Amino acid sequence: MDKIIVSCLFPEEISEQLGLESYRGRQIFRWIHEKHMFDIQKMTDLSKDLRNELETKAEFCQTEILHVEESPVSGTKKVLFRLRDNQTIESVIIPHRRRVTFCLSTQVGCPLKCAFCATGKAGYKRNLNAGEIVEQALHLLSLIDLGNRTPNIVYMGMGEPFWNYDEVIRSIKLIMHPLGINIGARKITVSTAGDVKGIQKFADENWQVRLSISLHAGNDTLRSRLVPLNRKYSLDKLAEALQYYQQKTDRMITFEYVLLGGTNDSLKQAQELFDYAKQFKCTVNLIPWNPVADIPFKSPTPEACEAFLQFLTQNGLNATLRKERGQDINAACGQLRRIMLT
Ligand code: SAH
Repeated sequence: MDKIIVSCLFPEEISEQLGLESYRGRQIFRWIHEKHMFDIQKMTDLSKDLRNELETKAEFCQTEILHVEESPVSGTKKVLFRLRDNQTIESVIIPHRRRVTFCLSTQVGCPLKCAFCATGKAGYKRNLNAGEIVEQALHLLSLIDLGNRTPNIVYMGMGEPFWNYDEVIRSIKLIMHPLGINIGARKITVSTAGDVKGIQKFADENWQVRLSISLHAGNDTLRSRLVPLNRKYSLDKLAEALQYYQQKTDRMITFEYVLLGGTNDSLKQAQELFDYAKQFKCTVNLIPWNPVADIPFKSPTPEACEAFLQFLTQNGLNATLRKERGQDINAACGQLRRIMLT
């Protein structure tokens, strides 16, 4: 029989599935999610006999840190994990002044194959389960001293969160759980390349978790070339889903727009982006493309970035130009790859 994977479960489910009294489920949940302790033998408020019994029935840890690389420039840390089937994923810790952001992966690789992104290039293997997603955050918390601060969490690592919808939602609820990491919904952001079904479902979740859309072009021809998912869900269909989202939630959305030199960084394209974005209560986050080996795009010039930004802000759009961190260690947006272990 397969072992029960404990890090996917809420306290009540732990008790139920392991046949324990309800306070035991809470104890075990706290060891994992509050104290970041994955070794059942070190859960000292359980008797030795119980620990041994549980060890035969359940799996307490699915992820192991293989490598941590720190950028001397920005302090960004890229963390490589090995999963139980020997697949690997990466997460990133991004410090900025007093805040810290954790960037989590939701899949091994990515099936979307956006033209400019390294993650899709390396292929897609499988979805992560909720425990594998939360364990990334738990390990990252052990790697740094945050004092009494809580990190921001962004689902912007490897994978398309809405193609792994149920496990992603479960992982968010685990991360928000008061006996666990206990992070507020507004400190969590999910980013999608525009999966309309996922956006509709997300709109119906009764919470304040933020939504970010990877847009990258304001016309369908170019967007379909850059983000193949656009061939299934055109800009109009995406707009409909986003209108539904805003009607339901009245929440601000963020559009991510990767600036690709000579491809989508002209003022005409800024106008197209503006025309699209102005339908929504939103901010636009411009990200100068981070170079990826073997991908034939160019980073935009600093002048093009400035002009693009100016155009949007002068027309009254809320827009920022992101200063990338972690490029020097290939930990910036779109630079995470699935590494094969030998
Ligand atoms: N699949 C989801 C989650 C990934 S988020 C989504 O697309 O939103 C990763 C973000 O980094 C996306 O906005 C993606 O478009 C962007 N990105 C990918 N490759 C990049 C690169 N080389 N330089 C800068 N940003 C990149």
